[in-house]
Amino acid sequence: MERLKGQAALVTGSSSGIGAAVAKCFAAEGAKVVVNYASSSEEAEEVVEEIVADGGDAIAVQADVSQEDQVQSLFAKMFEAYGTIDILVNNAGVQQDSDFVDMTLEQWNTVISINLTGQFLCSREAVKEFLRRGIPSYSRAAGKIICMSSVHEIIPWAGHCNYAASKGGVMLLMQSMAQELAHKKIRINSLGPGAIKTPINQDSWDTPEAKEELLKLIPYNRIGVPEDIGKAAVWLASEESDYVHGITLFVDGGMTLYPGFATGGG
Ligand code: NAD
Repeated sequence: MERLKGQAALVTGSSSGIGAAVAKCFAAEGAKVVVNYASSSEEAEEVVEEIVADGGDAIAVQADVSQEDQVQSLFAKMFEAYGTIDILVNNAGVQQDSDFVDMTLEQWNTVISINLTGQFLCSREAVKEFLRRGIPSYSRAAGKIICMSSVHEIIPWAGHCNYAASKGGVMLLMQSMAQELAHKKIRINSLGPGAIKTPINQDSWDTPEAKEELLKLIPYNRIGVPEDIGKAAVWLASEESDYVHGITLFVDGGMTLYPGFATGGG
């Protein structure tokens, strides 16, 4: 049975990595998917083509999620194509790493505006539509939002203050929206990936030395793949998780278990 049959989903930043996997997993479960991209139309079209070749339904729409007017036009294009939205996945995100003392205001602002403000802008447009439409006949919720957070919503990260601050912000944005909108039957949760093999963190897995260092942080002893997150996203968007609200589901092979304490020494 297709768990998201006929539902309209928007996955931001889904031309690559985790977003592309979420878009494909959603489409395989019967969702109609908007593949949002910031600049690479070629990659986004490839994701759409793959979905369509597998018998699914998807379109690619350009928008920078940090720009209010572009987010509004993204939703207008989605409504033109699919009439409404049932599932929003706030996935778009970037890293711009720097030692704290050398971090420029531009590096700070870029990461906060895409990773945090982008989630606010997209969630607000989705919630407007959920409130207008109410609960559709095919779902128990008036709408569902999944925020792509990170283990770094709780694990501090030296050299990545802007990124960690953005994900810490996503945690309380998600929880506050969840608290405010639960009685409207809008279901909101986060996914907290650990280390997943994508272009964003290629430096930390593409040499044997880097991989060995990274695995020390992962008790389950394997680096994640985008499909690990795609499968969890399907569950969080589906009726199977209808009573799950306001949580971060960490999908991290145990990275949040303080692996440095595994031997109990100290
Ligand atoms: P990625 O670089 O493959 O994907 C990021 C996507 O966001 C890209 O498609 C990019 O084009 C898009 N994007 C960037 N700026 C945008 C903008 N202004 N508007 C719209 N789209 C924009 O990396 P990924 O690992 O797939 O990252 C996806 C999400 O997962 C991010 O939010 C990231 O923080 C989060 N995450 C990733 C990992 C990991 O280990 N890969 C771990 C934790 C969290």
